[in-house]
Amino acid sequence: MSDWFDQPDPTGKTDTGERGLRFECTMCGNCCTGPSGFVLFTDEEADAMAAEIGVPRDRFIERYTRETSLGRSLAEKPSAFGQDCIFLDRDTLPGKAVCGLYGARPTQCRTWPFWKSNLQTRRHWERASEGCPGMNQGPLTDPGTVRITRDRLHI
Ligand code: SF4
Repeated sequence: MSDWFDQPDPTGKTDTGERGLRFECTMCGNCCTGPSGFVLFTDEEADAMAAEIGVPRDRFIERYTRETSLGRSLAEKPSAFGQDCIFLDRDTLPGKAVCGLYGARPTQCRTWPFWKSNLQTRRHWERASEGCPGMNQGPLTDPGTVRITRDRLHI
């Protein structure tokens, strides 16, 4: 079954006829802030995140997560931009917002922007790109990989 992104690069940044979508994070932090939201994770991901920052799992759950209507989510902290993810670091790199547990970040974060909600139609993709300057630039991800990434979660 084909998808709308099964076509030569819709951004027109390649003349080789390659297919897929471009994405390269600029570390703007937009996707990790704004209105209160959800960053959900599995038990295994909780273990990995706790290990990454060197705290026991119970302490991690208590200190860095919160209960939401969709389940346990990473906690948030207020900033000038809205509610930042508790692990968003705006201090280490001037002008950049980096993930404080990048190596252990949950699947929800790893799979952005190739989410079902962004890939329904080209219009959905373009609308999401208005808030994410990394979309439609950088290396091309082939349609098969986009599909595999998309199908990892129902978001
Ligand atoms: S909004 Fe896009 S470019 Fe900005 S941090 Fe998130 S993924 Fe990277």
